[in-house]
Amino acid sequence: RSFGEYPLSNEITRALAVLKYEAPTEVQREVIPPALEKHDLIVKSQTGSGKTAAFGIPICEMVEWEEKKPQALILTPTRELAVQVRDDMTNIGRFKRIKAMAVYGKEPFSKQKEELKQKTHVVVGTPGRVIDHIDRGTLDLDQVQYLVIDEADEMLNMGFIDEVEAIIKELPANRVTMVFSATLPKDVESLCYKYMKEPIHIEI
Ligand code: AMP
Repeated sequence: RSFGEYPLSNEITRALAVLKYEAPTEVQREVIPPALEKHDLIVKSQTGSGKTAAFGIPICEMVEWEEKKPQALILTPTRELAVQVRDDMTNIGRFKRIKAMAVYGKEPFSKQKEELKQKTHVVVGTPGRVIDHIDRGTLDLDQVQYLVIDEADEMLNMGFIDEVEAIIKELPANRVTMVFSATLPKDVESLCYKYMKEPIHIEI
């Protein structure tokens, strides 16, 4: 199996070669094809499985470079994960010149506010700071077409589930939603059923 089997542009395929990703991992094999067809997905998988690239590759493929407002929003439970995912998106999107930025607490709001005024394709953030930006009018989500909730069970454990729901309510209804979680607690499942359209279940 190789990435050459998927309908990916040259820019993305070249980036995967630079990253030395030769063959898709299992979660990537399961996720990339339906994600490219814009299906909603609930994916049960562990960290270390290659899940970041599983959503990162199709999202980088699908975003349009010309659009100035964010097209993808990725929510993570921690700042460390937000930074990691931001870096992975930047690497996968390097030849497409995709601008990914991380927003999280503990970094000055004003710095992020200035960065958000520039063209940004992908925003990766922790729920609290994303809400701050929404409330202060510094993050415009009306062009978001892809939402990823990463480590959804951790979001629940850390008490972020209501914030995640509040953010979802700010997004265009016409979007693709992907939820990644190591386990699927009831509260995560009910959130999925409330806000996803006929999601495909993938278990790794
Ligand atoms: P993740 O589960 O997203 O944290 O990824 C775990 C690690 O696997 C990261 O260091 C990735 O850079 C690496 N990785 C992801 N996809 C591939 C792939 N297809 N081939 C080789 N390494 C990969």
